[in-house]
Amino acid sequence: MEPNPSADLVRNTERGLYCAAGDFHIDPWRPVTRAVITHAHGDHARRGHGRYLATRASDAVLRARLGDISLDVLDYGEPIDIGGVRVSLHPAGHVLGSAQVRIEHRGEVWVVSGDYKVESDPTCAVFEPVRAHTFVTESTFGLPVYRWHRASRVFAEIDAWWSANAAAGRTSVLFAYAFGKAQRLLAGVDASIGPIVCHGAVEALNAAYRASGVSLPATARVTDPVAMDRALVLAPPSARGTPWLRRFGEYSDGFASGWMRLRGARRRQSLDRGFVLSDHADWPGLQMAIRESAAQRVIVTHGYVAPMVRWLNEQGLQANAFATEFGDEAAEAES
Ligand SMILES: [Zn+2]
Ligand SMILES: [Zn+2]
Repeated sequence: MEPNPSADLVRNTERGLYCAAGDFHIDPWRPVTRAVITHAHGDHARRGHGRYLATRASDAVLRARLGDISLDVLDYGEPIDIGGVRVSLHPAGHVLGSAQVRIEHRGEVWVVSGDYKVESDPTCAVFEPVRAHTFVTESTFGLPVYRWHRASRVFAEIDAWWSANAAAGRTSVLFAYAFGKAQRLLAGVDASIGPIVCHGAVEALNAAYRASGVSLPATARVTDPVAMDRALVLAPPSARGTPWLRRFGEYSDGFASGWMRLRGARRRQSLDRGFVLSDHADWPGLQMAIRESAAQRVIVTHGYVAPMVRWLNEQGLQANAFATEFGDEAAEAES
């Protein structure tokens, strides 16, 4: 069937975002023949597709999470032709290998962002604005209350907490998502303060990062003979409240997440500390990415969808939403 040039280049279907002109899906949530994957978080990269296309930088992390898949890879910026549609992947700055998908067909350009952040991060390629007629954006933190401090300042807070605990002979247990956040923390903290111990779920992703050429400080397992009372322990949120933590005796705990920006989030979870660190763009970051895409039309996929659509319409842009299955925190946390 001839593609209808007046139809949208990407539309939402029950299997996921679909480009009919090239007959492929982007981050589909049901099994499809050909899936273009923005990044390896569980809500975007699922099992069961026939063929996967992703960035070369995401090869090791995708395989660490999905096992033996049929994967084609592209370098950032390298174009490929899929059924007459030009497809290329551009840095999203979110986690290792994360990409925005640029789709060009008969002069029309769409960019699907997946998840992104605009602050630079030594564990992945820095976000690159891509011009488009239509920009499909996330809005995980799309409210004005979400404004991040520079990561260097957050790492200094974490170092100070860890140092004080080490001086008091107390283990520091820091909860963070096993893929992406944990490695960003590893690369950002001062590893001279004490040993760094990682939960098995975190260590599996550390191995994939190291295999991909990302430099991370030395890490130990809980079974290794290290001074636990001076250690920083990185564990996934799912380890909270489990017997696994008992081995550390007296410890202080913290959580590194963008959600810690919300007043009361830390207290409600009865954590000692909350560190505001996100792998998603904050409100100014989302605005900047949308502005720099120069898109006149913006489609919002997940997060604070309604407020973002309203705000975009107020700016004179044509905005609407796709109801997707992205943004599931359990899927992001799953290791
Ligand atoms: Zn993600
Ligand atoms: Zn996501």
